[in-house]
Amino acid sequence: MSAEWFFKLKEFDSLGKMRINHLKVIQEQEQRLTKLNIRRQEQLDEANGLKSELLSVQQNYFEAEKKMNTCEEQASRLKAVGGDEAKIASFQKEATNLEDSLFALLERTEAIHLELEDKKTFLAGLEKTYQEIETEVNEEIQENQKGVSQADLRMKLILEELPSGFRETLERTLKKNLAVGSFTRIDNGSCFFCRYKISRTDESEIDMQQMLKVCPQCSRIFLPYGS
Ligand SMILES: [Zn+2]
Repeated sequence: MSAEWFFKLKEFDSLGKMRINHLKVIQEQEQRLTKLNIRRQEQLDEANGLKSELLSVQQNYFEAEKKMNTCEEQASRLKAVGGDEAKIASFQKEATNLEDSLFALLERTEAIHLELEDKKTFLAGLEKTYQEIETEVNEEIQENQKGVSQADLRMKLILEELPSGFRETLERTLKKNLAVGSFTRIDNGSCFFCRYKISRTDESEIDMQQMLKVCPQCSRIFLPYGS
């Protein structure tokens, strides 16, 4: 009697769905870590940006300071030899401007240091969260991988148990890798999935006589009503 084989096909179908759910959970869990990694990388990139800005600010400070000293030296040398007043004033003005820029650079340096300190605290927190979540994620993944292997094993056994006609039909359908599984039912005289119209004869053969048939359009295997 084919009822028993349809019962196995139904089990095969639900195992396949369970397997997909396990894989989905695994993927979701992996994405949790991926997301955190992206956030961590963003923070690290920003920190690196700040560090290179800090270097250039420090370089600018060093150069401005040197220029300011030179201006001051020029001004006092000119003064000592009784040089041109306008020239002296111009050197002094430039020295003052450079001093203002030094203050601005110093302020920026301090701000960068503070931002870097914040980043460090944030990254340390993120690291802690990451480790906690990683443990959780790994446990979930392991558990679901076990579910996948168990389903795989059971599906393999079912395939081996099936009589050749059922097995060959199932293997042919599996090769097509159909979305949402390899099985369908008759729903209001049509294939539940692709809505292909099924003849009365086919419907009776599938649902009443439990004959093995595939949908002519989407090639999914019909599970008889009540199986
Ligand atoms: Zn169909």
